[in-house]
Amino acid sequence: MTVKIANSAFPNLLAPLDLGFTTLANRTLMGSMHTGLEEEKGGFDKLAAFYQARAKGGVGLIVTGGISPNARGRLAPFGCELSKFWQVTKHKKITDAVHKYPTKICMQLLHAGRYSYHPFSFAPSKVKSPINPFTPSAMSVRQIKGTIKDFAYSASLAQRAGYDGVEIMGSEGYLLNQFSCVRVNKRTDEWGGCVENRMRLAIDIIKAVREKTGEKFIIIFRLSMIDLVDGGNSWEDVVTMAKAVEAAGATLINTGIGWHEARVPTISTSVPRAAFTWITEKMKQEVSIPLVTTNRINTPEVAEEVLSKGHADLVSMARPFLADAEFVQKAAENKSDEINTCIGCNQACLDHVFQQKRASCLVNPVACYETELTFAKAKINKRIAVVGAGPAGLAFSVYAAQRGHKVEIFDRASEIGGQFNFAKQVPGKEEFYETIRYFNKQISLLDIKVHLSTEATTEDLINDDFDELVIATGILPRKLAIEGIDHEKVKSYLDVLRDKQPIGNNVAIIGAGGIGFDVAVFLAEEHEKSPLVDNKEKWLKSWGVDQSYQNNGALLDKPTIEKTPRNIHLLQRKTSKVGAGLGKTTGWIHRAILQKNGVKMLAGVTYKKIDDNGLTIEIDGKEQLLDVDHVIVCAGQESQRSLYQTLETSKRAEQGLHLIGGAKVAAELDAKRAIRQAAELAAVI
Ligand code: FAD
Ligand code: NAP
Ligand code: SF4
Repeated sequence: MTVKIANSAFPNLLAPLDLGFTTLANRTLMGSMHTGLEEEKGGFDKLAAFYQARAKGGVGLIVTGGISPNARGRLAPFGCELSKFWQVTKHKKITDAVHKYPTKICMQLLHAGRYSYHPFSFAPSKVKSPINPFTPSAMSVRQIKGTIKDFAYSASLAQRAGYDGVEIMGSEGYLLNQFSCVRVNKRTDEWGGCVENRMRLAIDIIKAVREKTGEKFIIIFRLSMIDLVDGGNSWEDVVTMAKAVEAAGATLINTGIGWHEARVPTISTSVPRAAFTWITEKMKQEVSIPLVTTNRINTPEVAEEVLSKGHADLVSMARPFLADAEFVQKAAENKSDEINTCIGCNQACLDHVFQQKRASCLVNPVACYETELTFAKAKINKRIAVVGAGPAGLAFSVYAAQRGHKVEIFDRASEIGGQFNFAKQVPGKEEFYETIRYFNKQISLLDIKVHLSTEATTEDLINDDFDELVIATGILPRKLAIEGIDHEKVKSYLDVLRDKQPIGNNVAIIGAGGIGFDVAVFLAEEHEKSPLVDNKEKWLKSWGVDQSYQNNGALLDKPTIEKTPRNIHLLQRKTSKVGAGLGKTTGWIHRAILQKNGVKMLAGVTYKKIDDNGLTIEIDGKEQLLDVDHVIVCAGQESQRSLYQTLETSKRAEQGLHLIGGAKVAAELDAKRAIRQAAELAAVI
C-alpha cells in the first residue's frame, strides 16, 4: 500500500527524497526508540508487528532502537547486540515485515560507552557519568580499533538481515559523543586533544562501515549539534565534525540535542514544539548532504512548517509514531485532526524504558502490544452506556465503537475530558488539549452519542435497555480533617484550575503529588504565555540555552530567570525528597521549574490548624506559622463510585456492569492506567 497524496496540506512533508541509490517515500523518519521488546523472549515477533504497523501507516524511514555492535557497548547486561551471524535471522523478521510496504528501515548502531549500565563499561577516559553508578575503564588503542571493526561487522550483518542502512549513534552522550568532547575525553594520544583527534573514532567508523557495506547502503550519522553540558563542543568543532562525516561517506546527518545528563529538558511536554530546529537550520549552511531535524515535533502542521522554512530535509519523530501508527497516512489524506497526538508525557514510553519495562504509550496502549491488544469486530453488536467522559470512559467508548458496538456516553460536565480539562490548564501541559480534540473527533466519526450536562442516575440506567453498563465516574478530591479546614482561606485544586478563583500572593499547597506540583507551576507561571508556540526564545533562555552559540555546549553563562512574584510553599507529610514520586524522566524538570521560581518545598510536615493568621505546621517538633492568603488542598483523591454501588445492589447487577478508571481504584491512578484498563475491557466486551 502506498500513501496517497491527494492535494495534501503537507506537500513538503510528503515529498519523496531521492538519495541517489534509493528513494525515501516522504520526509518522515521514525526516530530510534528502545521498546524493551528487543530483550524479551519472543520479542522480535512483537517488534516486527510494531514496525510493520508504522510502515503500513506510511512512515518514510524507520530507525530501530539502539543495537550494540559488541557486548561491552550494551546498554544493560542483557541488552540487544548484533555481532554474530546467527543473530541475523531474528532481525530479518523485522525487515521482511517492514518491506511489505515502501518504507525503508535502518538499524541503529549504539555503543553506550560510559552510559552502559554494567561493570564492564568503557569510555575514552575513566570519567564516571553523573547518571550511572558504574565507573568506566579507559579504552586501550587496541580496544578502540576493535570497536571500529565491530561497528563495521555489525553493519554488514544488518545489511544481510535486509536493513536498508544503519544509523551510527554519535550523540546524546553515548560513546562516540564521549570521544568527541573534552568533557569525557582526557586522552593525550591520537584519539584525544584537538577536534580532529576527538572525532577520529566516529569518522573511522563511518569509513569502515561504508567500506564493508558498499555505496548503496544508507548511513545516517546522529551528530550532537548542541551538547548542552559543560565541556561540550563549540559550534566550530561541530561544523568541522559534520564536514568530516559528510566526507567520510555518510548519506544523512541526523540532529542530536543534548546529552542524557544535560540539565535542560529537550523532549518533555513543557518543551515548546520544534524548539531546537534552529540548530539544524544553522548546520544547513555548512554541509550539503540531507539533514534530519528533531525534538518535540508532534503534528504534521509543525513538521510541514519546519520543512517549508528550510530548517531541514527530513523530520524525525519518535514518540508521535508510538501514539499513532497512521500519522503519515492520516496527514496524507488531510485528516490530521484524526491523529492521536503524542502529549510528550513520557509516562508509558521513556519512564518505562528507564524502569526496564516494555514501552507503550499513554494515549495508545496498543503500541508495542500489537499482537496482544487487538480489537476484532464484535460478533454481537451491543448497546452500551458509559457513565463518565474522562480518559477511561472516552477510551473505552472509542475502542468499543470501533468494534461495532453502539455506545452512548453520559457526563454531568458540560464538556468531555474529565480531569484532562484541569490538566490542560497547567502551563507546559497544553498538549493535553490534543487528547480531548482526538476523542471529540473519534466520537463524531464513530457516531457515539454523548449526553453532556447529564447526571446519570440508577433509574435512568436501569430503565433503559442497555446490554452493558460501564461506570467510569472517576474520582473526588480527598477531604481532610485538619482544624479550620472549612476556613475561607482553604481552596481545592478545582477552585484554582477549574473555577479560576482569585488566589493571593502567599500560598501554601497541602500535598506534593502530581497535582500539587501542577498547581504550584500554575500559580508560579500563570502570567506566562503558552510555550507551545509563543515563547520559544524566552523558554530557551530560561533553561540557559544560547542560540548564538558563544560558549561550548551552547550554554549561557547564566539562565535568564523571571521569578514569580508569588511566595509559594509546597508541603508533604513524608520525610522523603519532595517530588520523589514524580515521573522518572520528568520529575527533575518539575522540581527545577519550582526551584527557579523560589518555591519552598517542605517535607516531614504535620498540619496543625488553619485560621485567619494562616496555616500552622510542625516540622521536627517545631511549630511555625505560614502567613498565607490561601491554603490549597491537593491531598490525593478517592473513588467516586456511589452510582456503581447502587447498581451493584439492584437487579442490574445480573447483567453486564463494569467499573473502570479512577472509579475503580483511585490510589496511584493516572491516565495511563485508566486508558489501558478501558482498552482491555473494550477488547473483550
Ligand atoms: P475522570 O477524569 O475523573 O473522569 C470522570 C468523569 O465522570 C468526569 O468527567 C465526571 O464529570 C463524570 N461523572 C462522575 N459521576 C458522574 C455521574 N453520576 N453522571 C455523569 N457523569 C459523571 N494523569 C496522568 O497520567 N498524567 C498527568 O500528567 C496528569 N496530570 C493531571 C493534572 C491535573 C491537574 C489533574 C487534576 C489530573 C491529572 N492526571 C494526570 C490524572 C488523570 O487526569 C486521571 O487519572 C484521569 O483523568 C482519570 O480518568 P477517569 O476517566 O477514571 O476519571
Ligand atoms: P498523589 O500523587 O497521590 O499525591 C497526593 C499528595 O497528598 C501526596 O503528596 C500525599 O503526601 C498527600 N496526602 C495524601 N493524603 C493526605 C492526607 N490525608 N493529608 C494530607 N496530605 C495527604 O495524588 P495527586 O497529586 O492527587 O495526583 C493524582 C494522580 O494524578 C496521581 O496518581 C498522578 O499519577 C496523576 N498525575 C500525574 C502527573 C504527572 O505529571 N505524571 C501530574 C498530575 C497528576 P503525604 O502523604 O506525604 O502528605
Ligand atoms: Fe507520547 Fe506520552 Fe505516548 Fe510517550 S507515553 S509516546 S510521551 S503520549
